Amino acid sequence: MIEVETFPTLAEAARAMGAGAAYLGGGTVMMRAVNAGDAPARLVRTTDPALTQIRAMGDTLTLGAGVTMAQILAERDLDFLHDVARQIGGPQVRNMGTVGGNIFAPHPYGDFAVALLALGARVAMADGSSARPIEDVLRERDRPSGLIASVEVPRPRPGAFAFRKVSRVRPKGASIMSIAANLPREGGRVRGARLAWGAMGPRPLRGAAVERVLEGQSVDHGDIDRAAQIAAKGLEPPTDPLASSWYRTAVAGVHLKRLLQSMEGR
Ligand SMILES: Cc1cc2nc3c(=O)[nH]c(=O)nc-3n(C[C@H](O)[C@H](O)[C@H](O)COP(=O)(O)OP(=O)(O)OC[C@H]3O[C@@H](n4cnc5c(N)ncnc54)[C@H](O)[C@@H]3O)c2cc1C
Repeated sequence: MIEVETFPTLAEAARAMGAGAAYLGGGTVMMRAVNAGDAPARLVRTTDPALTQIRAMGDTLTLGAGVTMAQILAERDLDFLHDVARQIGGPQVRNMGTVGGNIFAPHPYGDFAVALLALGARVAMADGSSARPIEDVLRERDRPSGLIASVEVPRPRPGAFAFRKVSRVRPKGASIMSIAANLPREGGRVRGARLAWGAMGPRPLRGAAVERVLEGQSVDHGDIDRAAQIAAKGLEPPTDPLASSWYRTAVAGVHLKRLLQSMEGR
């Protein structure tokens, strides 16, 4: 039997997340585990409105962890994330699936987390501790330690951010891979390149080799070719029913090139 407890505030829900309990977001992943008999015996929820709020302060947008993909698509201020949210599952999944849940969604899911990683998002926990880089939370996500309250997303410079999801089934298929690039420029040169891959490892990962190639460059045809040649360097993509590790490695450069070409002249 599974016990589901609902609390009126984030703080109470966070306190209730003791040993063995898990948070129930939109349930698009968790309810599968419930149906398969793999879910934890205790699930915690909260109806705290803070969890579904979207706030803007300067160039930082704060998304409550319970903000759904559909909410993102309805928010004009988040237009840079529309292309990402639109590619998460079908309408039912987008109506229920949340930002917080996507951070824990197992391979090959987690497309939204890939975008957050490229954008340099920070994750705030409900226990009030200071926000941490999303890569730290992703690295530790197999041993979840509490309730995510919100995600702070720096607004990218105009034209600096792009996302590409590669899937065999359109529009609702899972990822063969997803790629997000944030390439802000100063004086026409990239400063602070961030490139993230999804479904190319056990969790969303930075593409450090590609970042090194693009940093300081104008991202012309030659730079794009050089990045494409080493696209999968340092990555060990898994084999799953969608694609083999060999295939993912072989086509990574092709899709990275298409993503970077789509950003040319922006
Ligand atoms: C048919 C289908 C298609 C899908 N397609 C895609 C896709 O294209 N791309 C994609 O990325 N995903 C996809 N998904 C996976 C999933 O819907 C999304 O990743 C969604 O964002 C998960 O959010 P959720 O709120 O439903 O998570 P839940 O199922 O509620 O939770 C998932 C995990 O996250 C944890 N969690 C949730 N919220 C918090 C929080 N605030 N703090 C701490 N832990 C938390 C839960 O404890 C659980 O371990 C698909 C799922 C289905 C069923």
